[in-house]
Amino acid sequence: MNLFDVYPIYTIEPVRAQGSYVWDTEGNKYLDLYGGHAVISIGHAHPHYVAKLTDQLNKIGFYSNSVKISLQEELAQKLGELSGYENYSLFLCNSGAEANENALKLASFHNGRKKVIAFSKAFHGRTAGAVAITDNKTIIAPVNATDHVQFLPFNDEAALEQAMNEEICAVIIEGIQGVGGVNVASESFLQKARQLCDTYGAVLILDSVQCGYGRSGKFFSHQYAGIDPDLITTAKGMGNGFPIGGVLIHPKFKAVHGMLGTTFGGNHLACAAGIAVLDVIKEENLMANAKQTGAYLSEQLKSLPGVKEVRGRGLMIGIELEEPADTLRKKLLFEHHIFTGASGKYTIRLLPSLALKQEDADLFLESFGKIVSAKTLV
Ligand code: PMP
Repeated sequence: MNLFDVYPIYTIEPVRAQGSYVWDTEGNKYLDLYGGHAVISIGHAHPHYVAKLTDQLNKIGFYSNSVKISLQEELAQKLGELSGYENYSLFLCNSGAEANENALKLASFHNGRKKVIAFSKAFHGRTAGAVAITDNKTIIAPVNATDHVQFLPFNDEAALEQAMNEEICAVIIEGIQGVGGVNVASESFLQKARQLCDTYGAVLILDSVQCGYGRSGKFFSHQYAGIDPDLITTAKGMGNGFPIGGVLIHPKFKAVHGMLGTTFGGNHLACAAGIAVLDVIKEENLMANAKQTGAYLSEQLKSLPGVKEVRGRGLMIGIELEEPADTLRKKLLFEHHIFTGASGKYTIRLLPSLALKQEDADLFLESFGKIVSAKTLV
C-alpha cells in the first residue's frame, strides 16, 4: 500500500533528537527551529519527559475514560496553576482541531446559537467544524462549507463591532495567527472582542493551539491584553510530541454527560506527557526563556538585509522577507542544516523549543546573515 500524498515533504529523515537538535539517517546534525510545527515545547527527548512516559507505560498506558484517572486531575491542577486559569475546568482530547470542534459545540450548546465569526487568514484545523472556520477555500470541502460562518478582517475592531448582534454564537480568534503569517492580535482588538461578546451574549474562543503553552512569553498570548476568554483551546506544545489537546472552560458552562467525549482523550500516557511538559516549563522557567531569547532573536533579525518585517512574540517569530522565502529556507536546511517553517510565500516562521539557547539563536543569525549578504553582494 502507498501512503496518501498529503504533505510536500523533504527527503531528510530525522531519526534521533535531543534538545533543539535532530540527526538524520546519515548522522548529520540539524538545528530545529520548527519544533515539529510548534509541538516540541520543552525540547526533544527531555530526560524528565522520557522518564515520566516510560514509567507510566510500565504501570498502565491506557484503560478507558469510564474509570477514574487521577493523572487527569493532576494535569488540570498543574495547568490551572501555571496558566492562571485555576477556576476553569479542562476537557481533554487529542488534537487542535478536536479542541476547536469541542469549543464550538460548547459555545453553541451554551447560548443555543449557530453563527460564528472568524477572521481572514485564520487556521483552526481540518475537521468539519474547524475547517469551516478556517480561511482557506482550498481546504474547505463542499460538505463542510456553511453559511453560519462569517470571516472578518483580522484586527479590525470597527468591522467586528458592525458584525456583532444577538445571533452570533461565538467569535474565534488566534492570539497570534500562525499558519496565516504570524500576525499578533492587537491588545485593543482582543479587548474589543471581549467587550462585544459580553454585550451580545456571544462566546469568546481563543485558539491558543499554536501560540499558547508559554511560547509567547506568557502562558497564553491573549494574557498580554489582560482579557479572559470564555473558552481556550490548546494542543501542540501541550504534549511535546504526544498527541493531546484540551479546552479550558469558564465555570459558567454546564457539563452534560455524553455531550463531549473521545476514546483516547485524557488517557494515562497523554496525561503523563502533559504533566511532564508542565513540570519542565515551570522548573526550567521556559516562559521567561521564550520571552528573552525570542526578543533577542527578533531584535537581531530586524537589522539583517533582506528582512522586511519581523512579527510575533517570544519564540513565535515570523520573518517577512523582501523576496520569496523558499530559496532561503532550502539553503538554511540543506547547506546550514537548520529546520525552519513557512507562512505563505514570503514569511519564514520560527517555532523552536521554548528552551532554545542564545548560542543556537546566534548560530541561526550567523547562517541567515551569511546567506542574505552573499545574495546582496551578487
Ligand atoms: N489551531 C491552530 C492555531 C493551528 O495552528 C493548528 C495546527 N496548525 C490547529 C488549530 C489544528 O491542530 P491539529 O493539527 O492538532 O488538529
